[in-house]
Amino acid sequence: MGLFDGKKALIFGVANDRSIAWGIAQALHREGCELGFSYGAPPLEKRVRPLAESVGASLIEECNVADDTALVHSIAFADRQDLSGRFVDTSREGFKMALDISAYSLVALTRAAEPLMTNGGAVLTMTYYGSVKVAPQYNVMGVAKAALEACVRYLASDLGPKGIRVNAISAGPIKTLAASGVGGFKKILGYSEKASPLRTLVKTEDVGNTALWLLSDWSRGVTGEVVYVDAGWNIMGLTVPLEELG
Ligand code: NAD
Repeated sequence: MGLFDGKKALIFGVANDRSIAWGIAQALHREGCELGFSYGAPPLEKRVRPLAESVGASLIEECNVADDTALVHSIAFADRQDLSGRFVDTSREGFKMALDISAYSLVALTRAAEPLMTNGGAVLTMTYYGSVKVAPQYNVMGVAKAALEACVRYLASDLGPKGIRVNAISAGPIKTLAASGVGGFKKILGYSEKASPLRTLVKTEDVGNTALWLLSDWSRGVTGEVVYVDAGWNIMGLTVPLEELG
């Protein structure tokens, strides 16, 4: 008996088997959830299709979702040139695109899912700590994530009366395709491992397990929240070990 037996989820954001969305999909599959996948661009199909088939899913975006639906939004994009150098140099076009793809897409997908969630439901998106504090080179994506987190709160308020919950997971750095576009990402990985309270990096599996909680009735009193799955990084005031300060 799985936590998600008889339930369905539509997942946006699997690019390959290192994607955070794939970690979430595997956790849902383990708990008996029926999955549908949508991939961002045609070239991704050859990677996503075998993954989707391995969990018995149909790749059709308009999968026949009914009651008790969950929506996983794990999508972000910014021009590589806006993910290095100075934030002040971000172009208007680059700013618009990052906010559109990374934040507005949640609003559009949630609006499309709302009529399908006739018996309540759960929406989950992915964010990063660069939304609340300056993270080197994260630049316009930090602003997009701040907008995304605000969208989570406004959507949660709009849809709460229908029993639809909207939450975000703020994950620590994970080596994925999208992350490789952020300048100096390897250094960020090493530093996070050294300086977070748990002295480890989080895995897509860790995010998947927290996603299970946020998408299931176990979290039915929780909406509009940003839950950190970052080995505790966000609680630290001073992240440089004292011994390194001389
Ligand atoms: P990923 O590259 O595996 O996934 C990003 C997904 O976004 C891809 O599937 C891609 O197809 C999709 N996408 C991009 N532009 C799109 C568009 N225009 N339309 C539809 N889909 C589009 O990388 P990931 O790290 O798994 O990223 C998933 C989410 O997790 C993102 O929101 C990312 O910001 C967030 N996140 C990542 C990290 C990390 O360190 N990897 C940390 C915190 C949050």
